[in-house]
Amino acid sequence: MASIFTRIVSGEIPAAKIYEDELTLAFLDINPASRGHTLVICKPELPSLLDLPPELLYAVSSTTQRVAQALTRALQPDGINIIQNNGAAAGQTVFHYHVHVIPRWNGDQAVGAWHPGRISAEEQRVLVTLLRAQFNAS
Ligand code: AMP
Repeated sequence: MASIFTRIVSGEIPAAKIYEDELTLAFLDINPASRGHTLVICKPELPSLLDLPPELLYAVSSTTQRVAQALTRALQPDGINIIQNNGAAAGQTVFHYHVHVIPRWNGDQAVGAWHPGRISAEEQRVLVTLLRAQFNAS
């Protein structure tokens, strides 16, 4: 079954589209966190960041920047969050790659903050070793 976003791309279901090109589409989120909350998707149905080839990553990033610039000109927010969820544990509910562009105004409660933790020097060393090895592995 096609994702809800693929059905928006094909025109099967409506969306408040604000920009479209060959590889990407931007439309208003149906349950916005703030005024102007926009989703940028890649048209091919790929689940997450881990699945995207470089040309699609570039295309979505470029459209994301253009949408952020358009929102800034149109709505004059004080800031903008770019949020991108991968996997249910990270809050992803639509498994078709997308980026949230969320305008923010001073003092709003539109997006929750994470709780900053602590890391020991030993744990940093362990993680650096583990992660650097991944770049040499491929
Ligand atoms: P995520 O939790 O990162 O997967 O975000 C999915 C987003 O898609 C949510 O913010 C939803 O409000 C939004 N959404 C789901 N269905 C639609 C739709 N038909 N049109 C616009 N936005 C949608």
